[in-house]
Amino acid sequence: MNRIQVKDKFFVPFLDAHTIHERITDLAAQINEDYQGKETLFIGILNGSFIFASDLFKKISIPASISFIKLVSYKGTTSSGTVITSIGLEEDLSDKHVVLVEDIVDTGRTLTEFIPVLKKQNPASVKICTLLQKPDALLFPLQVDYVGFSIPNKFVVGYGLDYDGMGRNSGEIYQLAD
Ligand code: 5GP
Repeated sequence: MNRIQVKDKFFVPFLDAHTIHERITDLAAQINEDYQGKETLFIGILNGSFIFASDLFKKISIPASISFIKLVSYKGTTSSGTVITSIGLEEDLSDKHVVLVEDIVDTGRTLTEFIPVLKKQNPASVKICTLLQKPDALLFPLQVDYVGFSIPNKFVVGYGLDYDGMGRNSGEIYQLAD
């Protein structure tokens, strides 16, 4: 792996494809064990999670379905000032075991605001599976159930993650150069 340029910034190698795939195999094995006998709905959060969700889902051996949503936040009248809603969720969630699949949890704001919205549809359970988490950046009390890699608080791209729309099309993950 060499350093790459995405738009005006340089990025250095951080996680290679083999390391990512080995970790995803472990995560899938854990999920397969935890959800034995339970029909599970995976919900991938677009755009960033599409590659991770696809690689993870291929390794899921329990009965499962998958759907993708986009989260949209707009100014509302809640205490935090924003309201978050999803586009694209057509499934009836009642009594379903939901695994939310995210590329990266940073401050935790997005999921902290979205999970109560999701729970209004009465799923049997909701868990979060993220490929990456930046523990030092967490500002909201979010419980993340499955974490691929805990990483430093530095901007990363590749494997679905973008910088200004670009850089998603890499099988590896790169970190912003100093
Ligand atoms: P949160 O609501 O947890 O602060 O933000 C999560 C979202 O922020 C992610 O889904 C992602 O879109 C974006 N994000 C946070 N950190 C990074 C990063 O290092 N790289 C990229 N590409 N996106 C990030």
